[in-house]
Amino acid sequence: MKAMKSVSFAYTAPLGLSDLFEDFRLMCNDAIRIAVAGKPKNRLELIESAYATLKQYGLHTHYALSACEVAYSVCGNKNGKSVPYVRRAFLKLDNQSYQLDHMILRIPFHSSGSGHDSDYIFIALQGSNYQLSFIDDPGLKRGSVTITPNSVIISFSREVEPFEPTGFIGVDINERNATLSATDGWTRKFSELGEVAEIKQRYREIRAGISRKTRGDRRITKMLLSKYGQRERNRTQLRLHRVTSQIVDYAKDHTLGIKMEKLKGIRKRYRKRNSQGKLFRGRMNTWVFGEVQSQVEYKSKWGGVPLWYVNPRGTSSYCLCGSRVVRLADRKLYCPTCDRTWDRDDLASKNVMACAVPQARPSRGSDEGGGGDDGSRLRSRWREGKFTWSMTTNDSQNQRNRERKKGNGRVRSTSACQS
Ligand SMILES: [Zn+2]
Repeated sequence: MKAMKSVSFAYTAPLGLSDLFEDFRLMCNDAIRIAVAGKPKNRLELIESAYATLKQYGLHTHYALSACEVAYSVCGNKNGKSVPYVRRAFLKLDNQSYQLDHMILRIPFHSSGSGHDSDYIFIALQGSNYQLSFIDDPGLKRGSVTITPNSVIISFSREVEPFEPTGFIGVDINERNATLSATDGWTRKFSELGEVAEIKQRYREIRAGISRKTRGDRRITKMLLSKYGQRERNRTQLRLHRVTSQIVDYAKDHTLGIKMEKLKGIRKRYRKRNSQGKLFRGRMNTWVFGEVQSQVEYKSKWGGVPLWYVNPRGTSSYCLCGSRVVRLADRKLYCPTCDRTWDRDDLASKNVMACAVPQARPSRGSDEGGGGDDGSRLRSRWREGKFTWSMTTNDSQNQRNRERKKGNGRVRSTSACQS
């Protein structure tokens, strides 16, 4: 299975690069206009009709092809509602058009055909050992390169086969923390998510202040907002990366598969509460959830760690023994059957971990006793499924929930008890 990773490098811009950005931007917009007017059926048709125009810029052929590529993809996305327009300065080149010699990136410039050095632009990349490890790894394939005024982004890919897990890690993500429970007994609570929420709150106040104070000049407002937005992203991303790397690294080191809640419906959940403040918080948290989820997903894919999504319904409403828990103050839950008090996040992560792992829950009903069957069925679906890396266990979960409802008589909407 192919896993991709984009690695970002800092660089100092060589002479001529800003002109190249501008020419490429104009070429993209030319190609978009041609694409909108001619409605080409495929990339090749667009290249045929736009090539003559784009060639007049005098740049290397690769840029004409790349501009057509950009134009074709943005026109495809927009679906003809309005004519798209490229404003940002950037360059995109496929892996045939650039050369990477250690940290020196060579991109084409003009096309005199002589192959002389003046036909190219050389960019010295900067990076730490982390970036170097990708460049020096002969097992990685290099993909396209994207150059923006701030960074050079090179995509790498490699073939990875997921390992056979010897156990699982359940991950429960909520607005305060990410809690992990592994089948080997390891548990961990990452409080960085709470910090991220605080940072986002602080920056929201800063941004409100900026807009208030610089109302007279939109350019200054825009500049300050983008500066603080960048700072906010840096701070939040750093913390999220720290958390997700540790999760995936632990799973890899102990050959455990990762199970996460499928948090697709989280927007709906927050819509139920009718206060503006909560709604706003919900949207903010959705970003964090989605970010954690996608980071864990691509990192585990890169590391060959198998990943499953489970239905998040009822993970904090039921004890591991299957009976309904009573909510106490301070995010504590009490199970009357086991006479045991749980930490809410702890229980949720244990429930996620135990989902569709029948071996981990021997006290369950008879249908889950024949666990081997269930597992192989899910495994095969995982291989055939559309989204091949992860699989959902919705069916077995829904069945389990139905049984719970039967057993417990009246049950409140479980999703309301989530947070
Ligand atoms: Zn219990």
